Amino acid sequence: MNLWSPNTLKEILAKHNLTLYHGLGQHFLTDYGILSKIIEKAEIKKTDGVLEIGPGAGVLTRLLAKASKKVVALEIDKKLLPVLAETTGDLGNVVVVNADAREVDFDRVMAEHTNGEFGFQGKPYLIVANLPYYATSPLIFKVFEEGCNVFSMTLMMQKEVAERIIAKPGSKAYGSLSVACQFFSDPKIVLKVPRTVFFPPPDVESAVVRFTLKENLLTPDERQNFFRVVRAAFAMRRKTIAKSLSGVLGLERDCVEEILLKTGINPSFRAEQVSPEHFYHLSQIMMRCLT
Ligand code: SAM
Repeated sequence: MNLWSPNTLKEILAKHNLTLYHGLGQHFLTDYGILSKIIEKAEIKKTDGVLEIGPGAGVLTRLLAKASKKVVALEIDKKLLPVLAETTGDLGNVVVVNADAREVDFDRVMAEHTNGEFGFQGKPYLIVANLPYYATSPLIFKVFEEGCNVFSMTLMMQKEVAERIIAKPGSKAYGSLSVACQFFSDPKIVLKVPRTVFFPPPDVESAVVRFTLKENLLTPDERQNFFRVVRAAFAMRRKTIAKSLSGVLGLERDCVEEILLKTGINPSFRAEQVSPEHFYHLSQIMMRCLT
């Protein structure tokens, strides 16, 4: 089934009386070259479990199923379920779950559909997806914030978001997303994707980022504190980090400045000048004031 052919895709959508909805980021891939590059960059093994977010009409899902042991695909749009039944129903290793990925416990859904082999108390799994662009940042934050049992992620997203993810301290694009991604993983842009390979084409250019996750050594409390401190630091981007942290977290300015100096951070720096590792040390020291 050549689902990547725009004509086949249009026929299937017409048969099910479906129109695609931009609000849900429904821009489907119609280029076999790009699809096979995503599979190649994801480095999937036949023994792997894969979580896909937003299978759409199932074009990437079919290729993921061929490359892996099991695919669990989360699709928010009920109207796509009969399409997915038609396009992936013949595959024994695909489960489609009708859910909003932002609300799902990824580890538990993987465990539930793989008899506990992957996810919660099981082996780490991979996330591979052509993401709905409106939800890219929340979905990435979710994986790191919840400490999901994920080995790697290979994600298509808007090019500007990919550039923010790999931005270095001191650059304009560097923000809380860069800090989280670079502290918990090693992100790399592995593919630039033109808008012409989608049906319908989106307004923006895209890129695929591959994240190799680092070993998770933080307790849930440490993780929560890390995100609290990073978010507070970037909440007032134009102010100094000392002012932003004390204002947002409601702490004495002198106390915050003392902690910053102890961590080796100049209190007059702005958050965008602070490295992910410094943020980690800062959150560890601040933990005592926040709990
Ligand atoms: N994987 C398909 C492809 O590559 O052609 C479709 C990708 S399309 C960019 C994004 C898909 O995510 C759509 O099918 C959309 O309905 C689905 N989606 C949007 N928001 C979602 C959410 N919160 N949870 C799960 N799926 C979502």
